Amino acid sequence: MFEKIQGHQTITNHLSKEINTNEVSHAYLFSGMDGIGKKKTAREFAKALLCRDETNKGCGHCTVCTQIEHENYPDVKIIGPKPGEASIKISQVRAMISELSIKPYSGNWRINIIDGAERMTPEAQNSLLKSLEEPLSYNIFILITSHAQTILPTIRSRCQSYHFQPLNFPDIEKIISEEGEFDQKAVTEALMASGGSPGMALYLLNNSEIQKERTHYLREVYSLLKGDEIKVFTLAEALSKDKTISQEMLEFFIHWFYEVDLLLAGHPLPNSGQPNPAHQAYHQLLGNEKNQAIIKTLFEMMATIQYNVNLRLQWEKCFIKIMKIQKG
Ligand SMILES: [Zn+2]
Repeated sequence: MFEKIQGHQTITNHLSKEINTNEVSHAYLFSGMDGIGKKKTAREFAKALLCRDETNKGCGHCTVCTQIEHENYPDVKIIGPKPGEASIKISQVRAMISELSIKPYSGNWRINIIDGAERMTPEAQNSLLKSLEEPLSYNIFILITSHAQTILPTIRSRCQSYHFQPLNFPDIEKIISEEGEFDQKAVTEALMASGGSPGMALYLLNNSEIQKERTHYLREVYSLLKGDEIKVFTLAEALSKDKTISQEMLEFFIHWFYEVDLLLAGHPLPNSGQPNPAHQAYHQLLGNEKNQAIIKTLFEMMATIQYNVNLRLQWEKCFIKIMKIQKG
């Protein structure tokens, strides 16, 4: 079981034990940064539960494992935001719920995976709640999220939670080497900027432009914090061009200010990453309280942009608030 998962050993050991002792829960919350292996672990968990090979559960070769890998096995349902949509709609959750009372097609379990669970609208989360409160014996839910804080506490409390930690560099390098051949210098840079997420490292390797773009935005936000008010509007305009860009940059900003938070508290960066000049500049500019207030503001923005809002206006509000926090 779980041979395909690099790292996350504590979690996979727990899950294996639950399967072997028949103590599988009805609801799980897999949290941790994007691209870290949560969905892959959920898929491997589903294979281990439903595989046809009794002696090697989650064999990876039988028809069930193959179909789960290709996300077309009827007893493993996966929903997430539809392409181009920022949120998981109540209609998607209702469709999933409507099938819960149907017995699994084969095997003992139906596994319902909600990928990007933080993007469920509050009404969608509420409609899910009842199914979690009164689970049918053969249904298992796996909620996958990079922002567990935005999941309703009433839902979180009904799930067994596993938090996925950043991976170490050797594990990430192993994953990268399975995906293709990359220049070693680029790999080292991607590792340093990955924050311990193999998905992010691969993303950066395949999109060197993104790295440049991030550096650009960090410079702009720095000017804003230094009091350049015009940046409120230029940043808001640039970021509001597209919802996906907004979402990605917001996640990056949150991650960034978390790193600054670590430095301000005197902790090392994850994965023995070295602070770069931008880290140092922000570190000198911000204090603990201000930095945390900024993170809170960014999380509020994250909750807001799930809805059909005027992105430009919301970004302006967000940056004005951040500027006020900095001015004190
Ligand atoms: Zn199998």
